[in-house]
Amino acid sequence: MSPARLTVELVAAVRALLPREAETVPLHEPHFEGNEWRYVKQCLDSGWVSSAGAFVDDFETRLAEVTEAPFAVATVNGTAALHLCLLGAGVASGDEVIAPSLTFVATANAIAYCGAIPHFADCEERGLGLDPAKLAVHLEAIGEPRQDGLYNRHTGRRIAAVLATHVLGHPSDLDPLVALCDAHGLPFVEDAAEALGSRYNGRHVGCHGRLGALSFNGNKILTTGGGGAVLTRDEALARRLKHLSTTARLPHPWHYEHDAVGYNYRLPNINAALGCAQLEGLPRALQAKRRLAERYRRALEPVEGVAFFAEPSYAESNYWLNTVTLEVAAEEMLETCLKALHAEGILARPAWQPMHRLPMYAEAPRMALDMTESMTARLICLPSSVPLVDEETDAAR
Ligand SMILES: *Cc1c(COP(=O)(O)O)cnc(C)c1O
Repeated sequence: MSPARLTVELVAAVRALLPREAETVPLHEPHFEGNEWRYVKQCLDSGWVSSAGAFVDDFETRLAEVTEAPFAVATVNGTAALHLCLLGAGVASGDEVIAPSLTFVATANAIAYCGAIPHFADCEERGLGLDPAKLAVHLEAIGEPRQDGLYNRHTGRRIAAVLATHVLGHPSDLDPLVALCDAHGLPFVEDAAEALGSRYNGRHVGCHGRLGALSFNGNKILTTGGGGAVLTRDEALARRLKHLSTTARLPHPWHYEHDAVGYNYRLPNINAALGCAQLEGLPRALQAKRRLAERYRRALEPVEGVAFFAEPSYAESNYWLNTVTLEVAAEEMLETCLKALHAEGILARPAWQPMHRLPMYAEAPRMALDMTESMTARLICLPSSVPLVDEETDAAR
């Protein structure tokens, strides 16, 4: 198939399933159709808008229910949640943390905030998460078990944890990753920022290891404006991280006493109010996402040279961002497609620039990243907002 024809067919297929009247179709927009106004108003009326209030506690309880994580700690954003997760996993200055190169920059930044160094690992083609087989071989090759943990024999630094991202909402292959971490005594942490509602072998992601982080940024499946949460099954850890997120202040009616260098990371009540309303709409949002994914899958089937990126067989994905992959990895081809889509007002996006190519992480240790390089030259994320598949528009089709 000639590049010109592929581009034309791809644009036509995508355009055909998007609203005709829309001049530009953003990648992902928030949607407010439930109790958002009501809860935010209650918040303003009560005067409880900041980092204490009933909505924050309520949001945490509801989140814990939805994710089947016994404990949730709400934070100002997903990056702060990741930072707390890593502190909770015991990551310290001078450590290395295994992380994917194919991820959003926040994953690597959270590692750097701990004074630690990301050690980049390759992804799988199937679910885009860390490749457990490659990671096993790599840890065998570079790992040196010592009394206080696993060390990188080349750098002499301790490997403190493995942080896996559920890329675009598709769960990583969790069982082998958790088993590998257990075998090496490494805490396993999930960057589930994009994956609220996604399941691995029937179980919600975010709590398969010691800790997990969610994000409720404006472009995620559910938004609090800005926000995030730490998930864990460990009650003591949840309590400690909540303490750290509230400046490590000791409870007292008037004295300001703090017992650690804490953070101002608690989610404000007004944002949590929005979150409570958004969580009520989550089941509907997940259904809409699956319908949109199915529609993309069908529309893209006849287009030669591309494939719809479907959820891996072990998972039920939230299909946060629908994605198409070019069969051949070629960055000029990718650029041509993106340009053509944008010319039609379809605000598609490529994958992130992989972490090992960014200036601040260019010197970080890493394994061979062949699949990451290949996927970076092949992935195109397509508009995936929930309102694109409203019941009304569905009925009109
Ligand atoms: C959005 C996102 C984050 C960060 O969340 P914020 O709420 O924007 O701080 C972290 N990791 C991944 C993979 C993300 O997509």
